Order: sequence, then C-alpha cells, then structure tokens
Amino acid sequence: MSIGHQTLHLIDPFLFIRLLYIAGQYDNTSNAVVCVFIAVGVIKNSSSRAQQTLINDMTDSWQECMNHCVDVTKQAGKIVREALEKDIAVMEKSSPTDLVTETDQRVEKLIISAIREKYPTHCFIGEESVAAGAPSVLSDGPTWIIDPIDGTTNFVHRFPFVSVSIGFTVNKEVEFGIVYSCMEDKMYTARRGKGAFCNGLPIKVSGQEDITKSLVLTEMGLKKDPEHFKTVMDNIQKILNVPVHGVRCPGSAAVNMCLVACGAADAYYHQGIYCWDMAGGAALVTEAGGVIVDITGGPFDLMSRRLIVASSPRVAQRIAQELTVFPCGRDDAPCSH
Ligand SMILES: [Mg+2]
Repeated sequence: MSIGHQTLHLIDPFLFIRLLYIAGQYDNTSNAVVCVFIAVGVIKNSSSRAQQTLINDMTDSWQECMNHCVDVTKQAGKIVREALEKDIAVMEKSSPTDLVTETDQRVEKLIISAIREKYPTHCFIGEESVAAGAPSVLSDGPTWIIDPIDGTTNFVHRFPFVSVSIGFTVNKEVEFGIVYSCMEDKMYTARRGKGAFCNGLPIKVSGQEDITKSLVLTEMGLKKDPEHFKTVMDNIQKILNVPVHGVRCPGSAAVNMCLVACGAADAYYHQGIYCWDMAGGAALVTEAGGVIVDITGGPFDLMSRRLIVASSPRVAQRIAQELTVFPCGRDDAPCSH
C-alpha cells in the first residue's frame, strides 16, 4: 500500500499549470498544445504506474511479513550478540553434543511472540518448541520455520558462525528467507522471484560447474550410530577423492547455505539436519542463482532432513553421484524428535 501512495505523491499537482505557463512565455499556441499533451501524458503515465504499483503491492502481501521478519530478526540478533559478551550456561538436549542455551529458548520465544502478535492465524515450526514437544508438521497455511540459533555449539565456543534463521512458507513453498550471521553482522535476505541480498547488496552463486575446482561444505555431526558415523566419514573421503579444492565444516547450516549463495563456497551437502536449518537458507540459494536438490539428486523436500545445494546443477549432481545415503527420518514423521 505504501509504495502506491509514494508513487501518487510523486505526481506534481502544479506540473500541468507550470507547463502551460512556460508555453505562455513563448506566446506560441502550438507550444502550448505540445505542453498540454506532455502534461496529460505525464499525469496519465504516473497514474497508471501508481495503479500498477498498488495492484502489485496488494498481490504481494507477503512482503509486509518479510519486512516484519527483518525487524524481528534484528532484535533477535541483538540478543544473541549481547549474550556472547556474557557467561553462557550450556544444557544438553538429546545427547552430550546436542547443546542448548537459555539464549536459544529466549530468542525463539521472542521471535514467535513478535510474529504471532501481528499474524495470529499463522503457523510456526520452531526448533526449541519442537524440542519441547510441539508438532513439526508443514501445512499449506503461512508458516514460519525458525531456528533461533543455528550453530549453538559455535555460539557456546564463540566460533564465528552463529545465525538466526527464519524461513516463511505458503503452500509448502518457501516465500522468503532471512539469515542473520550474528558475529559477522551480515543480514542475508531473499524473497521468491526478487533476488538474494547481503546487507542490502545483491549476491549470487559462483556459477562453478567443475567439481574439481569446487570448495565443498558439509557437517560431520557426532553420530550416535557407528554405522551412520562411518557413512558420514566415508562420504567426506569420497568427495575429497573426486578431488575437490577442499571440504569445510563451518558449523551452521544456514550460514553454509549463505556462503554458497554469495559464492564463497561452491556446494554444501548434509544428511540429518532439520527443516529449521534449511528453510531460511533455501530461499537465499535459489534466489542467488544456485540449485537445491535432494541428496539423491532428485527434487528437494523441505521435510526430508537432507539436501545438496550448489552453484550449478552439474556440481549438485556430481556430488549426489558420490554420496551414500543413509536413513535419517523425516521432520514430519510421528515421534521423530
Ligand atoms: Mg538451533
């Protein structure tokens, strides 16, 4: 709505009179006629542009949600940054390596209450809410998928890749994604069909097509199941043997996806992550011109707990070809958490 009004304000109500006056200075009827035509053209053009902007704005109702999301993410990021200056009390979730802090829980509560206040009918899937027993089911309705701190182990150690990640879906499709890398002070934003940005500047993937010239990201996790652990390690070895330029494990899935989106890395693959790790970054990668596929190379499924993102389809498929797949369940499977 606001864009429409702004455009209407751009029309100078005195333009028409001023043009007639200028024509009068020349005391020339044909000049006056030309000026009247120009004036009418300018006003007509501006009006139809204003009308079009108004229509676009009304059909683009999710933009307002995205603007609100950026504000909320900034507040959340501020809390995370302040918490890094203080002592961090660490608690364990499912295992001694699955960590959570008071800040994870506090930030998620803040995000959900700030969004629910404005959009009371919307749905939420939040990492800490799900850990506390909330369902993790993706409906067709507007849904906010939230990771209050992606990279909690990094946060605890002050290792510099810690992010707040929020993805917004409608009809199970990601409409926009916001990832704020707190220690780097980088705000990544992407809206479907409107590009990807870091701190307001456009970003794009490297476009690399040659796997042997690629820098590949993944995460090792610390798998409780020895067979899974062996598969994770074997997969890393296979990728290194392709060969590639290198493999890195930065420790935040959302940041990893942003690193691919801005061309600092060429690919990222992971099995065993969750929808809140992927939703925000998914928008970044696709809007930056990258691809996102299932670990098998097939279509990406947000609730499948696995993905490959890459700078090009060729690199994505080459990685899929190397990887051994292991079962890691689904986000929306009953009792999966
Ligand atoms: Mg988290």
